[in-house]
Amino acid sequence: MDVTGADPTYVLQSVFGYDDFRPYQKPIVNRIIHGQHAVVVMPTGGGKSICYQIPAMIRRGVGIVVSPLISLMQDQVDALQQLGVRAAVLNSSLGREDRRIVEEQIRAGELDLCYVAPERVTRSRFMSLLDAAPRAVIAIDEAHCISQWGHDFRPEYMELTALRRAFPETPCIAVTATADPPTQESILDQLHLREDDLVVTGFDRPNIQYTVVPKKKSGRRQLRRFLREKHDGDSGIVYCLSRKSVEKTADWLEENGFRALPYHAGLTDAEREEHQRRFLHEDGLIVVATVAFGMGIDKPDVRFVAHLDVPKTLEAYYQETGRAGRDGKPADAWMAYRLSDVVRMRKIIASSSESDEHAWTQHHKLNALFGYCETTDCRRKVLLNYFGEEMQGGQCGNCDNCLDPVDTWEGTVVAQKALSCIARTGQKFGTGHVTDVLLGRDTEKIRRFNHKQVSTYGIGEGRSKKEWRSIIRQLVAKGMIRVDVSGYGALKLTEACRPVLRGEQDVRFREERRPQVADSSSRSKEDPIPESGPKRELFEALRERRLELAREQDVPPYVIFNDSTLHAIVEHLPETPRAFRRLHGVGDVKLERYGDTFLEVVQSWKQTSKPVQ
Ligand code: ADP
Ligand code: ZN
Repeated sequence: MDVTGADPTYVLQSVFGYDDFRPYQKPIVNRIIHGQHAVVVMPTGGGKSICYQIPAMIRRGVGIVVSPLISLMQDQVDALQQLGVRAAVLNSSLGREDRRIVEEQIRAGELDLCYVAPERVTRSRFMSLLDAAPRAVIAIDEAHCISQWGHDFRPEYMELTALRRAFPETPCIAVTATADPPTQESILDQLHLREDDLVVTGFDRPNIQYTVVPKKKSGRRQLRRFLREKHDGDSGIVYCLSRKSVEKTADWLEENGFRALPYHAGLTDAEREEHQRRFLHEDGLIVVATVAFGMGIDKPDVRFVAHLDVPKTLEAYYQETGRAGRDGKPADAWMAYRLSDVVRMRKIIASSSESDEHAWTQHHKLNALFGYCETTDCRRKVLLNYFGEEMQGGQCGNCDNCLDPVDTWEGTVVAQKALSCIARTGQKFGTGHVTDVLLGRDTEKIRRFNHKQVSTYGIGEGRSKKEWRSIIRQLVAKGMIRVDVSGYGALKLTEACRPVLRGEQDVRFREERRPQVADSSSRSKEDPIPESGPKRELFEALRERRLELAREQDVPPYVIFNDSTLHAIVEHLPETPRAFRRLHGVGDVKLERYGDTFLEVVQSWKQTSKPVQ
């Protein structure tokens, strides 16, 4: 379908089947159509792709899309081809003849979009091809990869500077979901773009519900409970730190009746690709993965992202959890965490940092992450603040702390006891020993260091060991105690504890959270289709037809129609192609390809289920 020169809203409706642009999309699309540039920072699921796809279709010539993930390019191209868009990939998986055809199409201006890997784009063969061809736009996906300040620097992205230099007049749009201000600066700089090309939309993902629970043992049982209560049969991602725990967790989930696949750097390329492919192509599959998994995964119906280990930074957390709920429907970001995990992360940072400056930044980031985990305040507020955004209204109403506010208690004296016990024992011991001294225990270590003699021995009786651990952990989170990594986890006092010890500042502690109760009535995910009954039957029949069509063409089911469209069919029960065309996600080409077959499903469902209604 050729829509060169057409109106953007017309293209949105007739090709993509959407009614309106989202608020930020329209101005960006217009900028590019008029030959200007843009660096777009927009949260996952915000709809970045359309910002370059539509201009690429409307402007004369080809839109080059640079993306770091070869394995995912094909899916994106499949999805576009389903819409009738003239799109292709150019990468090493292509045979000589196919490559020649794509190149010919580019030269003739017959291709709307061509997806290319960054290391390919600046090869002289490709550059001279581009030089001779009409160029609509240069789009750079995952643009933070160009920045050494970002958390995912890719050297091959540096070459894009040369691409920009070669074609300065071709509109350039760089998009990313995570870029803090230094990273934004660096993207502008490397791509020779100006401050006023920058478009930063909000970071908030209102449909994601954030929950953090204190981890017990491996956290697996807590995970199982969370999955059973809220995500039976859903697709989701579980992140773990090590390959070993990935393997273990995946096996364990399988044993517990979930369908789970591992994903980590220790698997072969073929295995990894296969697991990723299955995750995209099948419904209700869980991938248990290290952080190696997920970049560029644009499966819209990932219903949860769970962390069994803490992520490296809040940026990473934001990006990883951002893979949930791209379709805008309710989704969960769930994490189980423990202080010792943070200490372990500290050690990793301390041993792997090239420079002091780097280590300092990393520690700073780890503290922010830790503060997020321990906060009694609205989690969304903490998260957005970290990205320099003020939250409207103060409370989000969609995180664990908002939904189930934490009780706090006045604990100034208790804090003083803990702090002075650390001081009296010489700031050389970890949590275990300090609590033993507080509780007046008689251990070998206490005898060896003569700690029965210190004035704080036994002053903590009346509270359990667990309570003291929680108190110390919270004091660490408040920045009053520092855990010394090189000193094997010894607790040290910081400046911030002085006013407390002098009695000039009060301290409040959180009541430890009760085990989460199942509350499926108020908080369960919004599912417009009832569990059983005729509507459920129709939905399942539609899903089945979708799966058949997807299998035939070897594409993921959501590329045919995503769940929102299936829900719309169930809701509106269209009888005519006209009515079908009005549904969310149905454009002209999809109507032509799939209208009849899905109308037929509705028709036969009506015939069989009429009597029971
Ligand atoms: P991003 O790349 O920003 O994470 P995508 O471009 O993948 O997001 O879009 C996320 C989802 O939103 C997709 O399912 C897409 O089809 C949908 N979408 C994008 N723009 C619109 C729109 N204007 N109206 C309705 N749905 C949209
Ligand atoms: Zn909140």
